[in-house]
Amino acid sequence: MRRVLIILVLALGAMLAAVWLGATPGSASLEFAGWRFDSSFGALAILVAIAGFVLIVIDRIWRWITGTPTRIKMWRHARRERHGYAALTRGLVAVAAGDPRSAMREAALADRLLGAPPASLLLSAQAAQLAGDETAARKHLEAMRAAPETEFAALRGLVAIAMREGRDDEALGLARRARELRPDATWVSGALIDLETKAARWDDAALTIDAARRQQMLPAPDADRKRAAALHEAVRGHEAKGDRREAIRAAERAFKLAPDRPEIAATLATLYAKDARARAASSLVEKEWTRHPHPALLDAYRKARPAPDALQWIKQVERLAKLNPAHAYSHTALAEASLAAELWGEAKRHAQAAIDAEGGEPRASLCRLMARIEEESGGDASVARSWLARAADAPGDPAWTCDSCGHPHAEWHAICRRCGAFDKLAWSAPARLAPAFVAIDTTKDQQ
Ligand SMILES: [Zn+2]
Repeated sequence: MRRVLIILVLALGAMLAAVWLGATPGSASLEFAGWRFDSSFGALAILVAIAGFVLIVIDRIWRWITGTPTRIKMWRHARRERHGYAALTRGLVAVAAGDPRSAMREAALADRLLGAPPASLLLSAQAAQLAGDETAARKHLEAMRAAPETEFAALRGLVAIAMREGRDDEALGLARRARELRPDATWVSGALIDLETKAARWDDAALTIDAARRQQMLPAPDADRKRAAALHEAVRGHEAKGDRREAIRAAERAFKLAPDRPEIAATLATLYAKDARARAASSLVEKEWTRHPHPALLDAYRKARPAPDALQWIKQVERLAKLNPAHAYSHTALAEASLAAELWGEAKRHAQAAIDAEGGEPRASLCRLMARIEEESGGDASVARSWLARAADAPGDPAWTCDSCGHPHAEWHAICRRCGAFDKLAWSAPARLAPAFVAIDTTKDQQ
């Protein structure tokens, strides 16, 4: 609009100038080498204007001719780029379709045409990973790390490769660098929790879990549970170093985060007992026994209230069992204490009550307890034998069983001893193997 207005103003100006020149009397004459040229001033002015216009047109044509090589170069460059990006797109589609050969071919083409920009490096790395060529993938990812815009994406691939190849220290270093770049990325937090727990860096793991909770990457109950597990496992490290004060601090924090886990309460009570705080230890066990009795709590109670003899110990157990009298673990504790004190009748009565409290089908350990009572009380040997035979087919006893691989553990650990999973141990009976499963296992062993 502005341009049109300017042209209109200029055309109007030229028209007025031509009218004015035509109407104004005046002449011009030019003499050169014996030639003479006479004209009106107006005609001469128009001639000069036309000559100027012709010169401008000639200049434009000249510039167009001399600029042709540059234009051809630019056109070729644009064509290369177009083909390069088309190859990149086809390569990404091939990666998505799981076709490593096409992906690698298109990645090489895109690399050649585009001069290895970050996007084609990413495609090359993905194609190499898809083809299972970890060495090539690492090479491309390392090249990507050099560019600030692709460093974070490269770190993700490098962390995954290092973890797969078991180079956990290197993976941890890379994941920490990734956290510096993007502290809010969920995968970074997940990888760090895995690596820090695997490396038994429990305090670091607890901090990482806490950060994940604050950034809402982990639901609060999950985060609290995991943090409690990390802090609980950290207790072992503090104790090994002889730092009881720090051990108690970690156990108290873990218990506060997960008050429903009797294993943590038992650890804390044991620490109190070792720290000559028997009263705090026994009152903690008593409080927990009312909510969820557990063999670990009974062990802690023995440390908090050591008894000089078996009869004294029965009194302690009775005091504890009274807090949750119907529970199978209360009866089991009383049966075992009575057996140790040679009170056969009491032992048998409580062992039977424990079986009844669990629904009538005795666990293996209760069958063995019954056999021991029969045997040590001098009862019928055949009854003792039948209890032992029954134990062989009885349901397994609860143990710290891994939710991921099913491996049972005698003691609670934050990490499964078999599969390395973090915070997967729960107090439950191991699954009973179906006969078909056993048969498959046997064949495997024979091979
Ligand atoms: Zn496991």
